[in-house]
Amino acid sequence: MVIEGYFGLCPTCKKTDGYVNVGRSHWFICEEYRVRWCIGANVFSSWRDETESEQQRHCKKIGFDEFTDVKPFYPKIKGVQRLKREGNGKKPAVRSKKSGESRDLLRRKRKLSSSTH
Ligand SMILES: [Zn+2]
Repeated sequence: MVIEGYFGLCPTCKKTDGYVNVGRSHWFICEEYRVRWCIGANVFSSWRDETESEQQRHCKKIGFDEFTDVKPFYPKIKGVQRLKREGNGKKPAVRSKKSGESRDLLRRKRKLSSSTH
């Protein structure tokens, strides 16, 4: 099961439209801002169910090739440990103004890869 935001969110709107599989690589995307970020390869098993032509058709449909590579935003997720950089009184250079985007996090992820049959 994929936790919303676990693999990052669009740095602009803090959302994601799910991911597309390119070969074995998984790319999370935001269709609104047309950005993408790769979270790795062979993490999900779903790529096995997709033929290459299916992948390419989907990529073309959303214009995946024109998406911009970005560094995703990682929300704080309860129960998920991330590397901490704080501790010495040093604060990260870039701080987001607000973290009141939880509303968006509750949004259900749209199904991109609905199972056929
Ligand atoms: Zn976005």
